[in-house]
Amino acid sequence: MGKSNIKILRLFFIASMFAYSCKDEAKKIKEVKKPNIIYIMTDDHGYQAISSYNGALNQTPNIDRIANDGVKFTRSFVTNSICSPSRAVMLTGKFSHLNGQRINSQSFDGSQVTFPKILQETGYQTAMIGKWHLGSDPTGFDYWNVLPGQGDYYNPDFIEMGKKSRVEGYVTSLITKFSLDWLKQRDTKKPFALLMHHKAPHRCWMPDLKYLEKYNDTKFELPDNFYDDYEGRTAAASQAMHIKDFCPVNDLKMYDKEGEIDGPLRKYFEIQINRMNPEQRKVWDKAYDKEIAYFKEAGLTGKELMEWRYQRYLEDYLRCIASVDDSVGEVLDYLEENDLAENTLVVYTSDQGFYLGEHGWFDKRFMYEESFRTPLLMKLPSRFKKKTTSKLVQNIDYAPTFLELAGAEIPKEMQGNSLVSMLEDEDKVEWREALYYHYYEYPGPHDVKRHYGVRTDRYKLIHFYNNIDQWELYDLKEDPSEMNNLYGKDGYNEVTQSMYKELLKLQEKYKDTTVTDVKLN
Ligand code: CA
Repeated sequence: MGKSNIKILRLFFIASMFAYSCKDEAKKIKEVKKPNIIYIMTDDHGYQAISSYNGALNQTPNIDRIANDGVKFTRSFVTNSICSPSRAVMLTGKFSHLNGQRINSQSFDGSQVTFPKILQETGYQTAMIGKWHLGSDPTGFDYWNVLPGQGDYYNPDFIEMGKKSRVEGYVTSLITKFSLDWLKQRDTKKPFALLMHHKAPHRCWMPDLKYLEKYNDTKFELPDNFYDDYEGRTAAASQAMHIKDFCPVNDLKMYDKEGEIDGPLRKYFEIQINRMNPEQRKVWDKAYDKEIAYFKEAGLTGKELMEWRYQRYLEDYLRCIASVDDSVGEVLDYLEENDLAENTLVVYTSDQGFYLGEHGWFDKRFMYEESFRTPLLMKLPSRFKKKTTSKLVQNIDYAPTFLELAGAEIPKEMQGNSLVSMLEDEDKVEWREALYYHYYEYPGPHDVKRHYGVRTDRYKLIHFYNNIDQWELYDLKEDPSEMNNLYGKDGYNEVTQSMYKELLKLQEKYKDTTVTDVKLN
């Protein structure tokens, strides 16, 4: 081999080494750029109680920070409006009929494919802290520290990697502390995904001591349909989630020492309140003894009683949210102080929406807007510009979104769509125009009949089945509160037929074979 050939070979070798190291470097950069994920999910937090969506009830300045720097979804929905099923959907990206978790009392099959498992395989550190509520132990997490079952507000038990112990403090603050502790000890060379799931503001709405007097001077306006008579809506009329169904002791905190005020959940609430230590109990009693004295003295009846219940309910519900908002603030501050804000996706959502007196109700379950919808705010400044989107999104979309951002492949079995392209350029992406819903937990608490349905931009068609056979049709533009069931009324046959076709199409698309013989009546 001549000298010149050796020189060429040497040059070639150097060039390829250089190319290789560039490629290696690019790969490293790409890996470093993988966004971190903090998924904050509360329990039963209706969008009505987030000031970015609606400032009429309360202020949530920290949750609003996510919307101010990110994306606010105004049409974000769940597939089955209840706790455990919603959590299973979020983890698997699949509807309840395929992930198996149709009702609360089932135990989640943790052997199936979930997004945290794939993130782990992709090099992410994963953690699950707070309310899990899926029966089986968490899978797919390097670290987990969860509340058993529904969890408790005061001095709750936590199960840390299988070991249960009682921890002094208030549940929302503890979940925040454990989350920040985990972030501080993580391997800073690897991306992370933290699922931070609050118990609040779930029933029985026990606020932190510092907020026990908040809203004492606030009078909350009644929703327009507070005194709904459910005309034309049999399933809505037969529920047991009306504000008149409140247990005065558990739900409205009328736990009097004399034991004169009774209610079906007095014993349950006694267990909750007895978890407090004497110092906590002293502050608690100071606040609620005044309320109890007023209630006993006033002897309220009729509308006065109904409206007092509503005020009591909202005070405690919103006080619990005040602590959640503080928690979000602490997390966002941590990210900012540690140069993580740009490249961390922060998601704020709830496992479903909630009724805050609309139709006279509390609780969830129905496919009506307040519980079908759920708040959804996302910020990732390095990828998404600030905006508001009204595209129809659903909790099946979360898992594919996180996987795409992590550069992982989205398994075919996941039924949602990644939101990434849609968020980057909404106009260029073809997006779904209809949503499918299916609720199963009947017979069950609050007596909400089984139902499934379809929602488009403007209309909603629902079929209540099992021990009832009733169809409902709503024009959401003309009747956003869903008071006027148009099914079977003159002039709506065409819309009904087209919604029915859409429903059948979605049942086929999502492989829901749990109902058969779906026929209009
Ligand atoms: Ca819930």
